Amino acid sequence: MSTETAPIAANFLRTIVEEDLKSGKHQTIVTRFPPEPNGYLHIGHAKSICINFGLARDFGGRCHLRFDDTNPVKEEMEYIESIKESVTWLGFDWGKHLYYASDYFEQLYQWAEFLIQQGKAYVEELTADEIRAHRGTLTEAGRESPWRNRPVEENLELFRRMRAGEFPDGARVLRAKIDMASPNINLRDPVLYRILHAPHPHVGDAWKIYPMYDFAHGQSDAIEGITHSICTLEFEDHKPLYEWFLDNLPVPARPRQYEFARLNLTYTVMSKRKLHELVTSRTVSGWDDPRMPTLMGIRRRGYTPEAVRAFCELIGVGRSDSWIDMSIMEECVRSDLNERAPRAMAVLRPLKVVITNYPEGQVEQFEAANHPQRPEMGSRMVSFSREIYIEEDDFMEEPPKGFFRLAPGVEVRLRYAYIVRCTGVVKDANGNVVEMHCEYDPASRGGSAADGRKIKGTIHWVSTSHCVDTEVRLFDRLFNDPNPDRGGADYRQFLNPRSVEVLPAAKLEASLAGADPESRFQFERQGYFHSDPVDSTPGKPVFNRIVTLKDTWTKK
Ligand code: ATP
Ligand code: MG
Repeated sequence: MSTETAPIAANFLRTIVEEDLKSGKHQTIVTRFPPEPNGYLHIGHAKSICINFGLARDFGGRCHLRFDDTNPVKEEMEYIESIKESVTWLGFDWGKHLYYASDYFEQLYQWAEFLIQQGKAYVEELTADEIRAHRGTLTEAGRESPWRNRPVEENLELFRRMRAGEFPDGARVLRAKIDMASPNINLRDPVLYRILHAPHPHVGDAWKIYPMYDFAHGQSDAIEGITHSICTLEFEDHKPLYEWFLDNLPVPARPRQYEFARLNLTYTVMSKRKLHELVTSRTVSGWDDPRMPTLMGIRRRGYTPEAVRAFCELIGVGRSDSWIDMSIMEECVRSDLNERAPRAMAVLRPLKVVITNYPEGQVEQFEAANHPQRPEMGSRMVSFSREIYIEEDDFMEEPPKGFFRLAPGVEVRLRYAYIVRCTGVVKDANGNVVEMHCEYDPASRGGSAADGRKIKGTIHWVSTSHCVDTEVRLFDRLFNDPNPDRGGADYRQFLNPRSVEVLPAAKLEASLAGADPESRFQFERQGYFHSDPVDSTPGKPVFNRIVTLKDTWTKK
């Protein structure tokens, strides 16, 4: 699967847009990605970003980035910056269309006064608990507030005093006057404004009252001329309210809301609260921990934006809730990197090997292709000498049948170099093998035997005096259960105790010393690795395993 050339799959949103353009309902489409800046983006948000920016790209429209920043208590500048960075990293560009719902606060306020003047909104003095008690249930109508029918002038005066900061937090709210008996609870006189004496990350101290999300969202869409307002299914119940505002306010445009099923991914959690807990409890190292499903984490792990986009394309867009297996996402990055990542040799758990018949002090250079199928990616030289490291588990003193790597008396091919035969081992006091001795076949330069004898195994290696010492981290899934979030259970009991293994003494071939931060390689026979952008230092890149070469989970 080549990520960027895959045909564009049909989905119901594309069909709607296509029809709206064909029928002339819209000349051009305008979508938006509307995060609340109250946390970092995760892979579920990537789906929404790809849908919104993808539609705009595919149909020649535009997509806005709009912060729906109506709750200053939970919002921070840091989130705003990180969200922008993640969207850019994913490969999307909002151009000059960066907006904040808070930039519309004055217009929203005017519209609230408009509703009051129309007799369609009132200042409520019941407490939050009383409002809840009046709301009714799914089977029972709500009860009207005693403040519901106060005169327009009194509502206006009180609302203006709310804005002026005359009342403490929670003392009053502004409610729409819709229908306390509506079967849709969202229409039972929803709250439009609340009092909050809190500074706002984008507009500072200007406001003492803040609009509710529902009162801001659709009107912001209308102000921006959004044609297709795409959100997740949980907003389906809010759609009648979304439309009520558009019907009852002098808005400049008429956006339409469409809902799709959110992304649910196995072996992870995506609720902001749980992700937050993982960070604050130090279960992970931070929001960008490579095991986190946040875009910062996925990026640091080494996923390419192309792979994330391919994943979002592959899973499609539907209207029924479903679960996507983590292995699908892993396969997307694997197939992207299989095509693009240069190959290299790295020994993760080193065992020293002395090639006893190889001249001391001699060094040979072997040419190694950077990609077996792509000669245009070039090659590099790897140095070979009398002492090398191989992978600890490429040697077994008493090998089982079918073990084609090194064992006493057995021959293997050292990738790109020579055939060697194991002639003996050196053990420590506890009987552990600490060094191995081999003899090489000088006639096998390049790896094939002059007499044509078959060599079954090929292993990777690095020269002890031509390698870089570094740390490699093997990351695995954070949870060992497909649904750690399942009802009632504490998700923490499903934490995978082996989700990270730090290998402090890994040895890299010398060419990797110059690896730039955020570059990716296939370490032969090991998997795909990414030079960590935080912990790498010049000449000493620290590597994160992005994914293994083969799926080791679905077989379990
Ligand atoms: P909150 O509970 O704070 O609202 P949220 O994850 O919905 O959390 P938003 O900032 O509101 O966060 O999300 C921005 C957009 O991303 C919304 O349109 C939302 O529907 C969409 N989105 C959030 N989670 C997912 C998901 N798992 N799959 C697809 N889209 C998602
Ligand atoms: Mg939300």
